[in-house]
Amino acid sequence: MSTIESVEEFRLRARSWLEENMPVLPAGTQVEPNYGLGSDEEELAEVQRNRDLQRRLFDGGLAGICFPKEYGGQGLTPAHAQAFNEEIVGYEFPDKIQVPTFTPCAAVLLEFGNEEQKQNHIPAILKGEEIWMQFLSEPSGGSDVAGAQTTAVRDGDEWVLNGSKIWTTGAWWSDWGLCLARTNWDVPKHRGLSVFMLKIHQPGIEVQRIEMLNGSKEFCQEYLDDVRIPDSDRIGEVDDGWTVGTGWMFYEKSYAISPLTVRPEAARGQSSRTKNPLLERARDAGRLDDPVARDLIGEARALSLAYRSLGTRVAKGIGAGKMTSHAAALARVMVAEETIRTATIEFELTGSSAVAWNTDDTKAAGAGVSFLMRQTTAIAGGTTEMSRNAISERILGMPRERTMDKDIPFRDVPRGPSAGAAPGDRS
Ligand SMILES: Cc1cc2nc3c(=O)[nH]c(=O)nc-3n(C[C@H](O)[C@H](O)[C@H](O)COP(=O)(O)OP(=O)(O)OC[C@H]3O[C@@H](n4cnc5c(N)ncnc54)[C@H](O)[C@@H]3O)c2cc1C
Repeated sequence: MSTIESVEEFRLRARSWLEENMPVLPAGTQVEPNYGLGSDEEELAEVQRNRDLQRRLFDGGLAGICFPKEYGGQGLTPAHAQAFNEEIVGYEFPDKIQVPTFTPCAAVLLEFGNEEQKQNHIPAILKGEEIWMQFLSEPSGGSDVAGAQTTAVRDGDEWVLNGSKIWTTGAWWSDWGLCLARTNWDVPKHRGLSVFMLKIHQPGIEVQRIEMLNGSKEFCQEYLDDVRIPDSDRIGEVDDGWTVGTGWMFYEKSYAISPLTVRPEAARGQSSRTKNPLLERARDAGRLDDPVARDLIGEARALSLAYRSLGTRVAKGIGAGKMTSHAAALARVMVAEETIRTATIEFELTGSSAVAWNTDDTKAAGAGVSFLMRQTTAIAGGTTEMSRNAISERILGMPRERTMDKDIPFRDVPRGPSAGAAPGDRS
């Protein structure tokens, strides 16, 4: 029986490899999302940088710590992944491709893909060669995932897809999409879905970028017009996409506690190589001795510790089979609460420069933009309202929400005027 490297041995190996191979972040900074606010050239350079860093990790034997060895991963445990998250604090890392490429997309492939699909895609993902996105939300709505109207019709060994997906982060610079589509309109909505993998840049797919009020073009809408894909790109059984979809939603909700993604997390008591940004903001504003500022910093710290403890408890509970997978909704709500409150505290500590920042003041700009974008954490990956539904119905056992469309063929479910006609229906 082969034994695996101990967590401490692994930690030391990772530490010395990181010191020799990974770029150190400038003191006092951390990898920050840019919310698609830079130029296209900057965004593409950042994506390429992420691919290169991921390749570097792969070549160094440190990519995919909890991915099976047969697909290029390290075959180690969540405890090893946690040690790696602690060691990578203060270094650049491929942050942009963690979510959704590793969680939920690669997690779904690992659980539901067949051997050929896993061999074809997991090593490529771990090498930074394939970036994946979720083709889930539709113009008709994102919360009612099972109400997908994008349609796939079988034609011999191929499927022909038509419809539209929306709010896909970075589809224009990504390679593959995990796509939920309706394959049967004559059964209730949960029973007529299938999941496909979709090469994004191919004939029939038009990727349009959505420009938001703040100038960000992070999101895309895709129009699928007779897109032909082979049946070998179907994940799971025909019309049984909800089985895959249920797992997919679980991984989507648990991105913040997934051992498949890398997230720098200073260990308790560890003197972090990065400075606490909230302390930095208070210091810059001359408020280190201000009791209000100190209270806010303490509040953020308490929230962060509570969030980490909850995340660890939920991940362990689900892993040990002591908690239902729906408990991922607890971590999903908490990550939003923590992020939103911390962004608000950072904004308050930064002061007026975060309201109207000079373009060269990157700290104030970061605090201002994070504050403006804070609510997205409660929406992306399924809203916190939907997670609260899951907590009340699936964990606390409260009565299920009434649904009018559960037991009737999807074709007969009333749809809004903007929805297209079902296949075979006269519009
Ligand atoms: C930063 C970001 C990144 C995203 N990236 C992607 C992506 O890559 N791919 C992708 O497919 N989508 C993506 N999305 C879209 C996201 O998944 C959807 O916005 C989300 O699922 C909600 O769907 P919706 O916006 O259509 O709102 P709706 O479903 O129309 O909901 C509107 C409001 O009603 C509430 N609501 C709806 N139904 C219920 C209910 N039954 N009970 C209680 N409240 C309810 C919702 O919580 C919400 O507040 C992203 C969104 C954000 C903000």
